[in-house]
Amino acid sequence: MVLIEDIASMKRYVLAVKSNGTTIGLVPTMGYFHEGHLMLMRMAKKISDHLIISLFVNPAQFGQGEDLDKYPKDMERDKTLARAVGVECIFAPSVEEMYPEGYSTYVNVENITNVLCGVSRPHHFRGVATVVTKLFNIIEPDIAVFGEKDFQQLAVIKQLVKDLNMNVRVVGHPTIREPDGLAMSSRNAYLRVDERKKSLILNKSLHLARNLFAEGVRDASKIRDSVKKMISSEEGCDIDYVEVVDPERLSPIRTIEDKALIALAVRIGSTRLIDNTVLGE
Ligand code: AMP
Repeated sequence: MVLIEDIASMKRYVLAVKSNGTTIGLVPTMGYFHEGHLMLMRMAKKISDHLIISLFVNPAQFGQGEDLDKYPKDMERDKTLARAVGVECIFAPSVEEMYPEGYSTYVNVENITNVLCGVSRPHHFRGVATVVTKLFNIIEPDIAVFGEKDFQQLAVIKQLVKDLNMNVRVVGHPTIREPDGLAMSSRNAYLRVDERKKSLILNKSLHLARNLFAEGVRDASKIRDSVKKMISSEEGCDIDYVEVVDPERLSPIRTIEDKALIALAVRIGSTRLIDNTVLGE
């Protein structure tokens, strides 16, 4: 496994790999790996010839007062885990390498970025779309794998690739959870013991939504309100949003005809957690 930190070397590496028709699979990450990341890597490895991952904590997708400075890091552990799943190359550029002095170009996906996480994190998806565009241009992957845990991010990237005619197949991977149901996230490391217990309310409330749907409830506001009520009953859990939306366009729906995405974001102490499930799948 090689570690590459500059763009020129990364491009040379890609050119060499591609020269004999080898396909590249890419998994973009911000590091501090958990089993969710590793499952994405295993999937990318299965469906491509050569696995490259990126490890970059992208300042452009963090808002003021967010956790950019305290985002967890452990490069040595990440390297060991990546090597064990068969990653061939880690691209880990510095911030200066990705956004040098005078950097001026940003990619803005409209509409689907104005809802859900886009409301409380207004510049987040602009940062995501920009860094992913740069990574796709540098690494030229044939496929790229993203987690459904960040459902809106996956939707934004699919839209970006479609609109800008990029030659990448974007593949989603289901959410990987801890044995007790909490969706794995690097940010779970922030949770204190009592907060970790409270965090189970996210998955529990999604279970409630699935049960209501299974019982035949199709009124989106009824499902949303029941979920909100359950989360609010847990002391110290502040709802950022709970929404029932169309899984493709992410627009609100009143009555669930076929499928619906229920997505939520909850603050527990200073940690903001997200989770989602697709009803009717
Ligand atoms: P991050 O390092 O948090 O930016 O995540 C890198 C990739 O891993 C993104 O595509 C995430 O959606 C995905 N990911 C993070 N957590 C999970 C999880 N629990 N299950 C599946 N994919 C995940």
